[in-house]
Amino acid sequence: MLIDSSSDEVKRRDNALKIIGTILNEKGKSGLFDLTGLSGGFPLEDEDLGLIETYAGPALFEEQLTELGIEHLGGEKVLAFNRTTSGIFATILALVKPGEEIVHFLPKSPSHPSIPRSAAIVNAVYKEFDDIDKFTVTDNTSLVIITGSTMDHEIIKSEEFDKVVEISKSKNIPIFVDDASGASLRTIIHKQPNAIDLGADMVIKSTDKLIDGPRGGLMAGKTKFIDKVKSKSYEFGLEAQPPVIAGMVRTLEKFTPHRIFDANHKKNMVFNALKEHFKNVKKTPTGIMLSADGLINELEKNGHKTVLSAREVSFIFAMILLKNHNIITIPAVGMPGASATIRIDLASKDAEKINTEFIVKAFIDTFNILKDTINDLDLCESFLFN
Ligand SMILES: *Cc1c(COP(=O)(O)O)cnc(C)c1O
Repeated sequence: MLIDSSSDEVKRRDNALKIIGTILNEKGKSGLFDLTGLSGGFPLEDEDLGLIETYAGPALFEEQLTELGIEHLGGEKVLAFNRTTSGIFATILALVKPGEEIVHFLPKSPSHPSIPRSAAIVNAVYKEFDDIDKFTVTDNTSLVIITGSTMDHEIIKSEEFDKVVEISKSKNIPIFVDDASGASLRTIIHKQPNAIDLGADMVIKSTDKLIDGPRGGLMAGKTKFIDKVKSKSYEFGLEAQPPVIAGMVRTLEKFTPHRIFDANHKKNMVFNALKEHFKNVKKTPTGIMLSADGLINELEKNGHKTVLSAREVSFIFAMILLKNHNIITIPAVGMPGASATIRIDLASKDAEKINTEFIVKAFIDTFNILKDTINDLDLCESFLFN
């Protein structure tokens, strides 16, 4: 096993960041293509800089964030976090006691790792369903979680959302929605209502996925729940700090969905061109993807076998794509446990710098190198770690 733990994944991520540093030094920002869809940004105004102090910042920006957050997400109150992960952790800490049950519905397993990991920390019983006909809660369930859009951008159906809400409400169980990217994809592309209007008590969205803000999580919901989660987040230092809150305010003020709409149209061209070479490529709402298992299938189809796991092969593909073509995808830079799917998000800012041909050539070249690499473990290690 080359990658068998979170620390192996951190080593791989550190290496990816080192490669990105080298590209930036040699070619500048214009030579780098961040196609993750989560490149973020920090659109502060000059006048904001003097205000991002420990107490002045929150006094001003938290009020503005409340107004903008409620406008975007609904609810009565908002709460900003350092990451979506920290918001999920704080919610589970605040609402679930040891031995109680968290029931999670998502369009397709696996969940983002932050949910089962947080459940394990509080010694909760964790149940995950991706088949709506099997979804049930019990008298021991203290929190229902819904994921609106998975890491690979599978979107929940509105009938499924409604059914989970109905079942949970009948037992008075609070509903929390992980809408990290769903808050944009579900509502903008699939035209579904926001999670609160669909009956959720709390929702969290990411402020850097498909939106040009700092990495962070913005939660909104009913006051009685937000207040509980807020004290937990202060107790454990999970809340966003003034500079990030200021960044979120400016990001929400400037947000327009045009890149998301454009990407939804542009993706067909890229998909059709790639499909000629890679049968396992699939469309996402704003781009294309090749899953780790899909990549293994491409290799096997061409007579290439490997002892590596699908995740490892996908990580290596992403590292070659980064090193040789300067394209950033999540399996190169992602956090431990994040999806290993190679996903090209055409709603990324940098997608404006490239065309279909560029992506197709990069995929073909990378695949050719990958097939010669997978059975040379030293070479694999060198792509992954140095
Ligand atoms: C990205 C994501 C998260 C976590 O976001 P971070 O900012 O990395 O903490 C949680 N859930 C889902 C569904 C995600 O896609």
